[in-house]
Amino acid sequence: MGTGERTRQPRWEIADVLARSDLTQLLDELATPATRSIRGRRWHCPMPDHDDQHASVTMHTDHRGHERWRCWSGDNTHRGDAIDLIVATQRVNRADAIAWLANRAGMIPDQPLPPARRKPQRAGPSVVPLDPSVVRYVHACEKILWGHTGAPVRDWLHARGFDDDLLRANHVGADPGRAMMSRRRGLPHGHSLAATFPALDPEGNVQYVQARYLEPIGSDKYDNPAGSLGSNPRLAWTRTPDGRTTAGVLLVTEGIPDALTAAGAGYAAVGILGSQAPDDRVADVLVRHAGSSGRTLVAVVDADSAGRAWGDRLVGLLERRNQPLDVVEPPEGLDLNGWAMQDSRWTSASGSELLRPIAPALARVEHFAT
Ligand SMILES: [Zn+2]
Repeated sequence: MGTGERTRQPRWEIADVLARSDLTQLLDELATPATRSIRGRRWHCPMPDHDDQHASVTMHTDHRGHERWRCWSGDNTHRGDAIDLIVATQRVNRADAIAWLANRAGMIPDQPLPPARRKPQRAGPSVVPLDPSVVRYVHACEKILWGHTGAPVRDWLHARGFDDDLLRANHVGADPGRAMMSRRRGLPHGHSLAATFPALDPEGNVQYVQARYLEPIGSDKYDNPAGSLGSNPRLAWTRTPDGRTTAGVLLVTEGIPDALTAAGAGYAAVGILGSQAPDDRVADVLVRHAGSSGRTLVAVVDADSAGRAWGDRLVGLLERRNQPLDVVEPPEGLDLNGWAMQDSRWTSASGSELLRPIAPALARVEHFAT
């Protein structure tokens, strides 16, 4: 029976197959994962013809809820969904790739479908209010920074171009580690000495904190409080040492240290926090701020493919809101902090000398004004 019959390729619904495929897991297996970066997961490009040294691939869920990957190296064909990933890595055609995924998901012809994977819900922002223990932690660390125990952290911060006035204005601190300072569960773990960077609200109140280990174990440089102690506000506002800022611009950076570099040079600056790409919530706040302050938004991106991708994403979010965004890129391979360490105009000169590194953006600001 049936010996002469050709085996028919089962025809699966693509949506059924994709609903049962986990792109993150597939990328982990079929592309090489990079170490976890502050921007979130990245992988080396799975395309066989791309020797990707930089882990240029990121993943996102599109507006229809489909998981997609993209290589940011500049080749726009290096992208797609789980099926495209299988085609690229298993050197099979599309039909076979769908069958490959269906088989992996345990889908058997003429049998009921296995349950679809529960994808992470895009839950509405349920904001957890800040636990007072986080503020106490920030102030305890701030005190420690200026004492004997804080000396190595002060040295580390000074080496990054942060002077004492800037550190004080932004309540930066030193976590001496849990051996020296006990803390409640959920605060940064404190496996070793760390600098603490509070995220301030626009009025200067502490709304969150990130601990940055001086000697990270593995690739986790930053340690955040547990979600139960407060929601990550995604935006960290900074203070300039004298409270005055260069008129006309708000610099938007990736992370708090770059925002502090900008603040140290006299700019109003906000750092975007997070292991995810900037999102609608971040964009809405920036647009509101630009509207109420009349400042032009200038993003300073890291000069690498991931930094540019981050900038592109922010430009897109703001474009949809009719909000222009200038993007300034440091010399190749540098972030703003690294740039400032190389270009003394950011840290040592005064007045208009400081404006020159972002003169193109400022020139556009003047152009807008006329
Ligand atoms: Zn690629």
